[in-house]
Amino acid sequence: MAELFYEDDADLSIIQGRKVAVIGYGSQGHAHALSLRDSGVDVRVGLLEGSKSRAAAQEEGLRVVTPAEAAAEADVIMILTPDPIQADVYKEAVEPNLKAGDALFFGHGLNIRYGFIKPPADVDVCMVAPKGPGHLVRRQYVEGRGVPCIAAVEQDATGNAFALALSYAKGIGGTKAGVIKTTFTEETETDLFGEQAVLCGGTAALVKAGFETLVEAGYQPEIAYFECLHELKLIVDLMYEGGLEKMRWSVSETAEWGDYITGPRIITDATKAEMKKVLAEIQDGTFANTWIAEYKAGLPKYNEYKTADSQHLLETTGKELRKLMSWVKEA
Ligand code: NDP
Ligand code: MG
Ligand code: MG
Repeated sequence: MAELFYEDDADLSIIQGRKVAVIGYGSQGHAHALSLRDSGVDVRVGLLEGSKSRAAAQEEGLRVVTPAEAAAEADVIMILTPDPIQADVYKEAVEPNLKAGDALFFGHGLNIRYGFIKPPADVDVCMVAPKGPGHLVRRQYVEGRGVPCIAAVEQDATGNAFALALSYAKGIGGTKAGVIKTTFTEETETDLFGEQAVLCGGTAALVKAGFETLVEAGYQPEIAYFECLHELKLIVDLMYEGGLEKMRWSVSETAEWGDYITGPRIITDATKAEMKKVLAEIQDGTFANTWIAEYKAGLPKYNEYKTADSQHLLETTGKELRKLMSWVKEA
């Protein structure tokens, strides 16, 4: 059974007694920096001189310094820049400023798991990863709630690393919703697998294939859009509230029967065999190395895929239909 931690298990005074640097002020960075500050923690934000994010952080009254200055001042350094450049940020700004007893924090384990960052033995290495997008992390905190987090310790140099991680999680509201203990390996591998096979990759491919099948058979794209994409949210909301059982309770018996007999024809043994291959490529580092190489090459394939999908009939149809539904907000 997973180990879960709530408000009373975490001591906020630990992180309140430290100096925290949040490097990066994007989706996660802004949520961590603002919520820690509102929890009474001494926070500075580390951003490069020309960074687009600087103004936003300064408008919130946060003190912004360079990543190197932030790392030098602080004894808890949370790296929240995009994953593919964290190793460079670490080499240039963080490593030269690490002192024995400092703590290095991450919001995702990729760089530690695959050895792109190799911290010295005398610092704590921790992870606090909210299981939700950064803007929700901040919104929930402001509303007095929290997004569940997972926390891990890769290296416990001080003997107090996990208590520090829990304290940090409390500072961003995580212990209100619950913190699950994990490892860098488990977090990294399951996170990459989930987003690729199910949440983003699997779902996007399923929606596209269903939409294309209907349109190629001569049905109207607008009808296919509603059937294969729009309604998915309603189905997922039911699963979120009460698992597959609640979804099946709510849909018609006809839909439920179709679910049982057709689902396994779509996601077949071959699909699952491919999922196992995907997982193996995550575990052996193939995926991480390919992704870092793509990023460093200037994202040629990534941009190709992005452009192709933005021109897909599913997307152009959806854009028009959503304009007519005032309650469906564009992000
Ligand atoms: P974003 O892309 O939203 O933000 C990145 C931030 O880093 C920006 O403020 C950017 O500034 C800044 N930055 C870029 N380069 C540098 C640099 N060299 N030095 C200092 N700052 C720099 O990142 P995310 O918040 O999405 O991701 C951060 C981490 O959180 C990742 O490890 C990710 O895996 C993890 N995570 C993200 C989640 C999410 O909700 N997005 C969920 C859970 C974990 P500029 O404005 O100049 O570009
Ligand atoms: Mg992820
Ligand atoms: Mg239907």
